[in-house]
Amino acid sequence: KNGVVIVGAGHAGVQAAASLREEGYDGPVILLGDEKELPYHKPPLSKTFIKDAAAQPQPLRGEVFYTGHTIDFRPGTLVERIDAAARRLELAGGGDLAYDQLILATGSRPRLLPLPGAHLAGVLSLRSVADARLIREQSAACEEVVVIGGGFIGLEIAATLAAGGRKVTVIEALDRLLGRAVAPLIAEHVRQRLTASGVRILLKTTIERIEGEDGHVASVLTSSGEHLPAKMVITGIGVVPNVELAETAGLAIANGIRIDTAMRSSVENILAIGDNASYRHWQTGSDVRLESVQNATDQAKLAARTVLGHPGDYVAVPWFWSDIGDMKLQMVGLTAGSDRQILSGDPAENRFSVFHFIGDRLVAIESVNRPADHMLGRKMLGLGFSPTTEQVAGGAEALKAALA
Ligand code: FAD
Repeated sequence: KNGVVIVGAGHAGVQAAASLREEGYDGPVILLGDEKELPYHKPPLSKTFIKDAAAQPQPLRGEVFYTGHTIDFRPGTLVERIDAAARRLELAGGGDLAYDQLILATGSRPRLLPLPGAHLAGVLSLRSVADARLIREQSAACEEVVVIGGGFIGLEIAATLAAGGRKVTVIEALDRLLGRAVAPLIAEHVRQRLTASGVRILLKTTIERIEGEDGHVASVLTSSGEHLPAKMVITGIGVVPNVELAETAGLAIANGIRIDTAMRSSVENILAIGDNASYRHWQTGSDVRLESVQNATDQAKLAARTVLGHPGDYVAVPWFWSDIGDMKLQMVGLTAGSDRQILSGDPAENRFSVFHFIGDRLVAIESVNRPADHMLGRKMLGLGFSPTTEQVAGGAEALKAALA
């Protein structure tokens, strides 16, 4: 028996290994990851790690977890090709490995900046703890930093580096921050607060080029003709799914490896989970690829069930968080199609939520420093319960009472 081989030892891969054991799988479980570290939590990298010289990566599970559950974790192992017909993997450096079932949990990587000067030293992006170490080391010697992209990761990095004393400018092409992700009210709140904390934010601005001196970045020239001096430029313009390995096995791909509701790809005995997978979402009926710890974790649990022959359906309520300076943003549900919003709480107090509805149906809640709304939102969306306008106005107490 060759067992289950998992490629990618991030949030999804590690959970898949754990869930296989929890569900009672007793064959070999082999977890391959190209990074050298013990698998670690990614979210703290942009929030705390890069400003704290003493911070260590936070392991997802301790070392004894792998040995104790007979999970054969092999760090520093890059998988180069899948031979689906022979059910074999080819490893970088020559070896190969047979599988009975294969779980692809290869994640995603930062989108590259197609700009003159993008290759200069000091132009960085953040995905791994290795990237975070580079940013931490190099930013210590920089007064000015430019962050390209006003999405979650870019803004988290901007707030963190600004709190550590750097002078940070964020450049965003759209006319608002967090364009893909949250209600305009929240995006504007974040902009105002970050600005008040000393981060400079340039909206509707693009980059002409990144300028260097002796191979190292020295400044950024914006579309409005401004030269921004910066010894470090961090790009946060989104990620692309790691699908190249899946392509070698001929898996169907469309903005990610296509999977069904039980995490099966188009090729037999190959599953895919996490940032690299796209699927028809139960809530919206449209195709999505979600980049969140929740999605990676819940899909991993389902993949384990599928391997064991009792597949479930992926109907988990999506949720996500982001810490940007003194704002804890929490999102639950999907806002796609939202046609009515109710504000609860007061942005001036930096504590409020936006409830999103389609007609009378609650579809999402976005909160700033209102964790109770978020937790209630998870419950309400899980139950398919939609509060009335009065119940939302009554705050967490009224919502709790309505759910009781
Ligand atoms: P990953 O965790 O990226 O793991 C994939 C692993 O596979 C990587 O180690 C990769 O190197 C490896 N790999 C790829 N190809 C191969 C190969 N061919 N052979 C071997 N190994 C391979 N989500 C939230 O919900 N909240 C947050 O606050 C949040 N903050 C974040 C902050 C940062 C800085 C980053 C980078 C991400 C953040 N995310 C957050 C997103 C979240 O971390 C991802 O959605 C999650 O890591 C996805 O898990 P995954 O297992 O699919 O991918």
